[in-house]
Amino acid sequence: MDPFDVLKFCPKCGKSAWENKHANMRVCRSCGYEMYKNPTIGGAALIFDQQDRLLAVRRTKEPAKGTLHLPGGFCEAGECIEDAVKREVREETNLEISLGKYLFSIPNHYEYKGVELYPLDFFFEAKIKDTERLLPDKSENSEILFIPRREINIDAFGLESVKAALQRYLGR
Ligand SMILES: [Zn+2]
Repeated sequence: MDPFDVLKFCPKCGKSAWENKHANMRVCRSCGYEMYKNPTIGGAALIFDQQDRLLAVRRTKEPAKGTLHLPGGFCEAGECIEDAVKREVREETNLEISLGKYLFSIPNHYEYKGVELYPLDFFFEAKIKDTERLLPDKSENSEILFIPRREINIDAFGLESVKAALQRYLGR
């Protein structure tokens, strides 16, 4: 469902007096409150170990439950995307990483709990500081895999932005 259809009433004055200015912006005619459909900023790390294997995780949550994913997640308020990626990797795998090159950003689009989301995902190269700390967070991911570069099956990854990122990065 479109987020504009979910929020029928103005969160500031409580009236239902929306006027659409364009597809991604509307204004409350009663109090002037402006509402935008902004992207949610997310990030993920392309981490290859010493044997040139990609670190992937298997999702235990929707969207794309059961498929492979790159470690990462959403930015919190006041946080930069670099810190968000490092924090999310730490939460999901217990690993400390050092970020390498920023690669590119790719817009994503999917439904979460019945509401459309518009994530904008930033991708970074990263290196693991210490693999012995590896410890999966079972609430987020059922397993952590190291996949040799030549055996990476892009179709096994569930989210469109991650598939596109791997295609671009691996030149396929
Ligand atoms: Zn209002």
